[in-house]
Amino acid sequence: MHGFTAPNLRPRFAPPSDLTPLTPEYDPWDPIRSLQRYGRHALTSVEFTVTHLCNMRCEHCAVGDSLTMTESPHLPMDLIFRRLDEVEKLETISLTGGEPTFREETVREILLPLLKYARSRGIRSQLNSNVTLDYSRYEIIAPYLDVMHISFNYTEASDFHQVGFARSGRSVSANATARLYERMMENALRLSNDGVFVSAESMINYRTHDKMNEIHKLIVEMGCQRHEVHPMYPSSFASNLPVITREQMMDSINSLLDSRDPNVWMLFGTLPFFACGSDERELALVKRLAAEPNVTVRNDPDGRNRVNVNLFSGDVYVTDFAAIPPFGNVKSEKLDDVFAKWQDHSLQKKVDCHCPSAGCCGPNLLVSDMYFKEVDFTRRRSLI
Ligand code: SF4
Repeated sequence: MHGFTAPNLRPRFAPPSDLTPLTPEYDPWDPIRSLQRYGRHALTSVEFTVTHLCNMRCEHCAVGDSLTMTESPHLPMDLIFRRLDEVEKLETISLTGGEPTFREETVREILLPLLKYARSRGIRSQLNSNVTLDYSRYEIIAPYLDVMHISFNYTEASDFHQVGFARSGRSVSANATARLYERMMENALRLSNDGVFVSAESMINYRTHDKMNEIHKLIVEMGCQRHEVHPMYPSSFASNLPVITREQMMDSINSLLDSRDPNVWMLFGTLPFFACGSDERELALVKRLAAEPNVTVRNDPDGRNRVNVNLFSGDVYVTDFAAIPPFGNVKSEKLDDVFAKWQDHSLQKKVDCHCPSAGCCGPNLLVSDMYFKEVDFTRRRSLI
């Protein structure tokens, strides 16, 4: 036996073993955790918009209107680290764009320092990327990243072409997008095999609602550890897209629950179905979601435990709800102070309910505005 060394089977980017694994029981992005812990909403999560550049122009993109062709300089990182240091209860950061990895310079000078900072403080991190760029770009940051979050709404390359480039304003050949589609799938699989937690998000919308089962299968084949599902709410850039009915949404979710791979964590979010609702079918779905193993419904973090910081202007947003302009600026204010101002805002108070039995802390503002304009959630109670 002398000289025998066991092969190192640990994937190269597996998270350090002293970090709590992210599981349905431990999702530090869910605002219900901080609400339970502190008895009130607290700022535990900061999202950074690190770029307005992107190689795609997805038709549903929530920030499509703000995408640009050139970029101004970022704010100094020492200001950002100081502002993060001041957030007392910080548990997670998320990095978003645009496509955050579009320029290698952004990867090295912005993403890497932010991820290293988070790891050094035991703060969990997520990067939202389309993973269509060269793998070497992801290798730079993967050792420090907790969740690689990708969008996946396709069953084949032609879906990717239509969804991702229809609004690019220039003609992009189907061959070129097919190569990107392949690369995205290869990168996702490779990241999964290398030990990165890849979470793929699909939107239930007019294109996908009857294809979710096929989409789910491909996500499982890419080795993703989690499948996130959100309904698409046609707002701003996506406001001209057709809307599906709640009935269609429910059918899509029920069919997905029937056919899903039970080993893959399914996370639903921003659903318009609540335990205080009176519709029998909707209540049945809420109960089913609560009872299914390896399935969670995440409460919406925006404005509950999270703010968004624009890394160019310093503006702080509390939600992407259209009626709310920036609520403060990191150049002159602490993030905890900006968050405290928002907690007193009438719009936040309108949806500030909490039913412990349902593990629910109220609807997303967009959902409430779209479906429940006349409803005062603070007067409702969970029926389960
Ligand atoms: S927390 Fe609010 S939305 Fe959720 S079940 Fe209770 S009253 Fe309804």
